[in-house]
Amino acid sequence: MKVLVPVKRVIDANVKPRVKADGTGVELANVKMAMNPFCEIAVEEAIRLKEAGKVEEIVAVSVGPDKAQETLRTALAMGADRAILIKTDETVEPLDVAKLLKGVVEAESPEIVLLGKQAIDDDSNQTGQMLAALLGWSQGTFASKVELDGGKAKVTREVDGGLQVVDLKLPAIITTDLRLNEPRYASLPNIMKAKKKPLDEKAPGDYGVAVKARLKVLKTEEPAGRKAGIKVGSVAELVDKLKNEAGVI
Ligand code: AMP
Repeated sequence: MKVLVPVKRVIDANVKPRVKADGTGVELANVKMAMNPFCEIAVEEAIRLKEAGKVEEIVAVSVGPDKAQETLRTALAMGADRAILIKTDETVEPLDVAKLLKGVVEAESPEIVLLGKQAIDDDSNQTGQMLAALLGWSQGTFASKVELDGGKAKVTREVDGGLQVVDLKLPAIITTDLRLNEPRYASLPNIMKAKKKPLDEKAPGDYGVAVKARLKVLKTEEPAGRKAGIKVGSVAELVDKLKNEAGVI
């Protein structure tokens, strides 16, 4: 069985993003970039399924600029078998990514596409769902457990009320939630080996897609700073402040 894992290059989760001085977006110059954390979880899950003998090949794919190669090399160093970079310098929105991934699915015929539930830069949480709709495949989103058996995937989903288990007929789309696993670090020998693994370069046009941003960003602003808290002397004072100052009760 082949698994396709789309991985996105985003600002490193440990970096505090800053708004550009002219308010046109988030500062990306000289900022540390890394693989989107939910994509790391997806790569890890694919590797675990391979280690369990359920999966034969893991193909990582990224849509983005030349530098997204680094993200793909990280996926290869973790344990993916090969990688595809769909190169574009345009801003890519989830619908275009989903259309491109549909093209990759048609060319590669994976039985599972394992995505992150969301990218932490735009927080869209759309690509997996859109891809499932474009392909007409089943989907199990926000997975905290994935079990493969025969031609089926049993996915435990994190939903508002707790956990929901869905049985998916393959091929299917699965998106990862935080508690699915703890991704491994790539070891130095594996980073060296990853340099020799195949990384194909494609263009959006190879899949008949013209990447074009549909959304226009009008302005980007820092969120308002939080006011310092205060200590109250008694419950009565707290209730008074909540009632008469904050107006919340
Ligand atoms: P989003 O819908 O943008 O929140 O992203 C959800 C997931 O879709 C990510 O965790 C990735 O698995 C995948 N994805 C989104 N954008 C890209 C991209 N540019 N390249 C590869 N995968 C992507």
